[in-house]
Amino acid sequence: MENNIDWQKEDLKYIWHPCSQMKDYEELPPIVIERGEGINLYDIKGKCYKDVVSSWWCNLLGHCNPSIVKRLKTQADTLEHVIFANFSHKPIIELCMRLSKLVPKGLTKFNFSDNGSSAIEMAMKMSFQYFEQTGFPQKKRFMALTEAYHGETIAALSAGDCDLYTKIYKPILMDIIRIKAPDCYHCPYNKTRDNCSCECFCDCEAQFEKYGSETAAILIEPLLQGSAGMKIYPPLYLKKLRGICDKYNVHIIADEIATGFYRTGKMFACQHADITPDLMCISKGLTGGFMPMAAVVTTDEIYQAFYDDYLKYKAFMHSHTYSGNPLGASCALGVLDVLESGEIQKHLIEVTPYFNNLIKEKFLNLDNVGEVRSIGLINAIELVSDKKNKIHFNSKLRLGYQIYKKALKKGVLLRPLGDVIYFNPPLIIDKKDMDFVVNVALECTKEVLSELSIQSLKV
Ligand SMILES: *Cc1c(COP(=O)(O)O)cnc(C)c1O
Repeated sequence: MENNIDWQKEDLKYIWHPCSQMKDYEELPPIVIERGEGINLYDIKGKCYKDVVSSWWCNLLGHCNPSIVKRLKTQADTLEHVIFANFSHKPIIELCMRLSKLVPKGLTKFNFSDNGSSAIEMAMKMSFQYFEQTGFPQKKRFMALTEAYHGETIAALSAGDCDLYTKIYKPILMDIIRIKAPDCYHCPYNKTRDNCSCECFCDCEAQFEKYGSETAAILIEPLLQGSAGMKIYPPLYLKKLRGICDKYNVHIIADEIATGFYRTGKMFACQHADITPDLMCISKGLTGGFMPMAAVVTTDEIYQAFYDDYLKYKAFMHSHTYSGNPLGASCALGVLDVLESGEIQKHLIEVTPYFNNLIKEKFLNLDNVGEVRSIGLINAIELVSDKKNKIHFNSKLRLGYQIYKKALKKGVLLRPLGDVIYFNPPLIIDKKDMDFVVNVALECTKEVLSELSIQSLKV
């Protein structure tokens, strides 16, 4: 029977895919994947796609990584799930014992959920309740940066500032205090990332002066604003932020959902600036992309503000059904097995400069490449219509989407953010695959740009 099924047709009959205009699927039907191995995905016809976006940034160590698979299989035969109020299990305890040695110093308590957005909401609630219970009830508001991305549920979406996701929902979103994010490519002070003193921090100072006393926490994507187009800013900004938050008694909620687990070259991005946030949200890389799991990691000080006799009603009455799921915990242990062996770090030291130089070399001299930037293995190429004046293409041209479609034909899964082409591959990618994916991205970019200039000659 299986042979007669048209999987793409059946998919479209039932499934409403995430973050998609479903009408686009008329032209580009869903690619039905059969299996994965390393950075490769294979569809039902056997065609291979190099997954250089780590399947939405979560696949850390390659598809079907054997260390993780082994842990998961054993766990599935032992215990799949148990209620996490009053009950516990060894994998989650071991996970916290091991993770606590790797998180920024001073973070000691773990509260689990099952996706990044829910971790963000949990951190916001914790911060608010902390101030309610420590004599600062006026601290009810939150700050976040322009172009931030913190997830899709209502509070997380409120903290975010990408019009494409938030605009229509504005009437039902929270009123967030907005701080102008560092924009190094268009630096208003004409500095570069390595010679600046984060002059742009003055906007943050102004907002703290105005609203610091009524603010519970600021949410921030440390060093890398991912969905904004892989925008990268210097660690000094975080150091300054730690200073001003201490001054105004405001929590830092570090959203390390995309940046954690060596994506930026260190275990967590905050460690580049040597700061400890008050609350840190982790997900994506946590289970290597195997199971939905997230956590808020926080300080003893925050934990203690909830710790009292039951009838004082100070507990954090927040739960998710799958909190602390054993299958997720066992996958996370598989990730730590690999990270603690030190192999990945050695591999990264060898291949990161190769990858980053290769991309600069191939792309930087193109007429329509405004900036090539990198942190860890993450590389972003920003396309512009006018390089000298840093002017973007009309977004209606959907350049990124044209490049995406061409690259798929050639067996590479890129997924540009607007006109920013980026690579965020599993950390195990080798030099041969780097050569291949960069060449495909370059060919596709050149083809799309030349088609565009032919088009514009015609009109
Ligand atoms: C992916 C992401 C989220 C949201 O996580 P979900 O699991 O998709 O809800 C939040 N913040 C950042 C920085 C992310 O990259």
